[in-house]
Amino acid sequence: MTTKVTSGASGVGLFLAHAVELETEAADRYEELADSMEAHNNAEVAALFRDLAACSRKHRDEVRTIAAEFGPLPSVAPWEFEWNATAESPEAAAFENTHYLMTAHHALRMALQCETQGCKYYAGVAAETRDPRVAHLAREFADEEAGHVELVKQWLRRYPTPPEGWDDDPDPPNVSD
Ligand code: ZN
Repeated sequence: MTTKVTSGASGVGLFLAHAVELETEAADRYEELADSMEAHNNAEVAALFRDLAACSRKHRDEVRTIAAEFGPLPSVAPWEFEWNATAESPEAAAFENTHYLMTAHHALRMALQCETQGCKYYAGVAAETRDPRVAHLAREFADEEAGHVELVKQWLRRYPTPPEGWDDDPDPPNVSD
């Protein structure tokens, strides 16, 4: 295989299989982010993440409905997915970045990254595929993600960068248990 980037998503079925995986992982990660915000007693941001998780699940279901028109989705092993530069699907928030003191601002920054990467992935496929059906669907999906990017940006205005020292903890958790 000499081509890279989105070559794995060139056929409609394969593209849709990637989209299902992307949305599924995004939904799972948003549930985790929501749990984390709940643990921080931030019900408001937790609710936003539950909404975004629901969006991803809804989108996944829509993709499956579209896929039904094209016959069964090809089964793709986890290591066979071809994302741009990340091993994980582009929309899955990078959890290595979580911190137990993570504020709503930081959680939202992760969500922004997640949505931006999802949008870029779909836009990239739309730009590179030679299959007009894939291009059409990918453009539609990219628009949907762009809407999520805007939504998260709006929330970030309500939760601006916290002051220096947000991660200072005078009483760090006991790591021995
Ligand atoms: Zn999204």
